[in-house]
Amino acid sequence: MSSKASEILVGALETEFKTVKAMMQIYCKQHHHQDGLCDECQALLNYAELRLDRCPYGQSKPTCNKCPIHCYKPEPKEQMKTVMRFSGPKMLLPHPILSIRHLLHERKNVPRKPDDNLSNRAIRLNKTKQ
Ligand SMILES: [Zn+2]
Repeated sequence: MSSKASEILVGALETEFKTVKAMMQIYCKQHHHQDGLCDECQALLNYAELRLDRCPYGQSKPTCNKCPIHCYKPEPKEQMKTVMRFSGPKMLLPHPILSIRHLLHERKNVPRKPDDNLSNRAIRLNKTKQ
């Protein structure tokens, strides 16, 4: 596997995706006894990647629990909350750097409403157009 966690996300969004992925791996291992991810968890991770790609804040995205935009549908939102509640406290030992970055990030204020076309997706598609 390449060191890039995502084929489409860059910068802070990729880091956030890595954090989510690590949390999902901890959760899946304990609950579904998979070393990678089971199909259900992989589907949720794919959904998270899509949401990150389309986040209107783009690179200035606040952490999800502070974000005023509720972009998850109710069902995946509940699933993700369950994963975060379980894995959040277990992240520090296996992933100290990701954990600390996430905690620092959570203390930042939510940025003002984003301008248009700042999402990773908009920038990505714009680049390929040129
Ligand atoms: Zn699983």
